[in-house]
Amino acid sequence: MAHTIPGGRQEVVAEDIQAVAAALSSDWLTTGPKVAEFESCVAAITDARHGVAVCNGTAALHTLYAAFGLSQGDEVIVPAITFAATSNAALYLGARPVFADVTPETLLVDPRDVEKKITRATKAIVAVDYAGQPCDYSELRKIADNHGLALFSDACHSLGASYQNRPVGSLADATVFSFHPVKPITTGEGGMVVTNDTALADRMRKFRNHGIGTEFRERESQGTWDYSVEMLGFNYRLSDVHSALGLSQLSRLESMVARRNRIASKYRAAMQEDTRVTSLSELEDRTHGYHLFVVRLRTDLAPIRRGLFAAAKERGIRLNVHYLPVYQHPYYQNLPREFPPCAVAESVYSELISLPIYPTLTDAEAEYVIEEFKAALNQFTKS
Ligand SMILES: *Cc1c(COP(=O)(O)O)cnc(C)c1O
Repeated sequence: MAHTIPGGRQEVVAEDIQAVAAALSSDWLTTGPKVAEFESCVAAITDARHGVAVCNGTAALHTLYAAFGLSQGDEVIVPAITFAATSNAALYLGARPVFADVTPETLLVDPRDVEKKITRATKAIVAVDYAGQPCDYSELRKIADNHGLALFSDACHSLGASYQNRPVGSLADATVFSFHPVKPITTGEGGMVVTNDTALADRMRKFRNHGIGTEFRERESQGTWDYSVEMLGFNYRLSDVHSALGLSQLSRLESMVARRNRIASKYRAAMQEDTRVTSLSELEDRTHGYHLFVVRLRTDLAPIRRGLFAAAKERGIRLNVHYLPVYQHPYYQNLPREFPPCAVAESVYSELISLPIYPTLTDAEAEYVIEEFKAALNQFTKS
């Protein structure tokens, strides 16, 4: 391979570019009809009543937590292994993230540990569909219901996946998506919350638009200039240009997820015959989005991870690591409170390494990744 294979990458095709060009030539660059159309389409394919589009996945988490009413002193349970935004967004509101441990075979949040972390201050559980595989939503739902908690899903990795034949987006009280370039579909930057809760959706629409009760197009069609700021909100709007790209991408979601699964099955087969690595488990009753393909190094090989990363880079392959347990980041370590350690997350973290996966990765490139990854491993250890 003459070029470096990145860890993740968007698939943008000619129709996407045409859709964006058409939006640019239209009357509406933002707050126009494409936003509503994109929201309806994402809601439809995820079996949700409402979609609220925002400017990125982190804003989507902030919007959801704020509209739900999370505030000072409230606790929200999140997995120890996730992108920091899942818990950062709780901190924006003065709420306290409480970290639950993960299951070593999947790195999905362990429902038993979630239950242990519930206190009188707990308001919500946020499940993260790590790598693209849905969490144990039946178990999590039981726990949430028994304790009167909201169940949210950070599905930034898993748009297009399903659990017990139900699509991601219909599995929790509200579900968050990101449309960053490496995610299942992209709008460049973008995000959305889907929910069946009409009152929550209304509050989220206000929050993303300065806390204003009506949207510009409504006022225009009513022939009025009056608007009122009803709560403290942000400008978290997604533009029509971004939404047009999202709509065009959405028409290929299924084929892009299928392509990711095909690459994953090649990787799985190749890892299975090598005792130095294991793939994370695929669970029976769900389909996988394969945002990430994560392998665990054999425990005794954890110390070679940095060397392996560098050796693969020399060979033109970008590996990555997802993720350091969030509370181990310096910002969290410096907060004036203790985060009880999550033993599984901490021990498994040192073994994690992600292989490149994205829809435009060809079969030949996937085979090249396998060969060079193993050759890089051979630099440190015999198979
Ligand atoms: C990408 C991601 C986010 C944040 O999305 P952005 O669009 O990058 O803000 C949040 N949670 C998880 C698990 C993610 O992977």
